[in-house]
Amino acid sequence: MHKEDQPLIFELSTEGRIGYSLPEMDIPEIDLGELLPEGYLREEEPELPEVSELDIMRHYTALSKRNHGVDSGFYPLGSCTMKYNPKINENVARFNGFAHLHPLQDESSVQGALELMYDLQEHLIEITGMDEVTLQPAAGAHGEWTGLMMIRSYHEANGDTKRTKVVVPDSAHGTNPASATVAGFETVTVKSDENGLVDLEDLRRVVGEDTAALMLTNPNTLGLFEENILEMAEIVHGAGGKLYYDGANLNAVLSKARPGDMGFDVVHLNLHKTFTGPHGGGGPGSGPVGVKADLIPFLPKPVLVKNGDQYEFDYDRPQSIGRVKPYYGNFGINVRAYTYIRTMGPDGLKAVTENAVLNANYMMRRLAPFFDLPFDRHCKHEFVLSGKRQKKLGVRTLDIAKRLLDFGYHPPTIYFPLNVEECIMIEPTETESKETLDAFVDAMIQIAKEAEENPEIVQEAPHTTVIGRLDETMAARKPVLRYQKQ
Ligand SMILES: *Cc1c(COP(=O)(O)O)cnc(C)c1O
Repeated sequence: MHKEDQPLIFELSTEGRIGYSLPEMDIPEIDLGELLPEGYLREEEPELPEVSELDIMRHYTALSKRNHGVDSGFYPLGSCTMKYNPKINENVARFNGFAHLHPLQDESSVQGALELMYDLQEHLIEITGMDEVTLQPAAGAHGEWTGLMMIRSYHEANGDTKRTKVVVPDSAHGTNPASATVAGFETVTVKSDENGLVDLEDLRRVVGEDTAALMLTNPNTLGLFEENILEMAEIVHGAGGKLYYDGANLNAVLSKARPGDMGFDVVHLNLHKTFTGPHGGGGPGSGPVGVKADLIPFLPKPVLVKNGDQYEFDYDRPQSIGRVKPYYGNFGINVRAYTYIRTMGPDGLKAVTENAVLNANYMMRRLAPFFDLPFDRHCKHEFVLSGKRQKKLGVRTLDIAKRLLDFGYHPPTIYFPLNVEECIMIEPTETESKETLDAFVDAMIQIAKEAEENPEIVQEAPHTTVIGRLDETMAARKPVLRYQKQ
């Protein structure tokens, strides 16, 4: 069968075929009509495929083989840390004592889960250098918004209502300006200088008494450490603004430097990146937010507290921004992050940073003779190349990314950050072996040679995938559904 001909699960359906039999009902049947308001009950049975267990397993196994994930190959996605997901995390998250809890259980009956959450908060406080942490936010962007809402409430509580602007560098992750806008602020962009760092002159120009906060990623999205961070903190604090740290990819500084010590007031982390939670495909994430003492009153409620040897939720928080997520946040992801931190230990977490930085610098130096290196200095966990040289040969960065698919690699992030022409942004992460890094570099070098000798093979890539080159905007905006009920 040609690979394209994989039928839809609905096309495999045969009336009356059964894949799974539910046990006999052994509790009284409930009349849903009495529970749900009128108009919410469906009138017709849902249209579901009818297939055997074997059919359904084969169908999804076949589809899964077309997917690219961390468990199937190298995934050097800059700015979005895709590292391996330790399998012990999965085992622990599946413990009955965690997985079978009900979110509405009485606090006294879930003390173990609350203890884990509390301990995780304590670890994250230590790792970030902040004074308190909330585990409620469900992802990085959600954490950004939560942090900004706290900053907003803080300024309002001080009667400081003219702080309507959030300053964001031009190299910031796209979620930063988006979160600022959703939190009701106006975004002001600050430029990067020729070294790829925030331009201090420009920062002084845009920061003032209308500044609510500066949102910063450090190392920035070029993988460069903001060397003037203490001076930047002085400028922003001096004007009465707060400092927000985007800690989505903390593996560049973990156990080496702490946002709290750099002067930051708020930080969010992506447990589904740095702390090895699986992510991608819209799966659950976790974006805890840490704050310094003066923002603690505004934390989302309820706040998890320890009272003697009991763990409880404190709802008596009159200045709280309120609840940002039902129940316990994405508890399963928090269990995974906790397991990771405990299995690594302090020395292990230090090695994370050292290996992440070493791997990135190693790859950058091996690739530098073949591509343009816009910032020729040590990088942290990631680095950017420019495909300018290849573009002159008629091969664009997009073509290089597509050609990598033929070598079995997920392409790196491209055309971001926007201030680098034909940008290719690579993050190897700490979890890859030297052999894997070398094999990827070899593929990149081969592509650079192809661009010179045989550009069509790159321009027309990919050649080996199930589907060739897509119109990406169309694919994202209008995923075509083939199945049409006759
Ligand atoms: C991934 C990422 C985010 C957003 O996190 P989500 O969990 O996808 O919402 C924010 N900032 C940076 C630097 C990131 O890499």
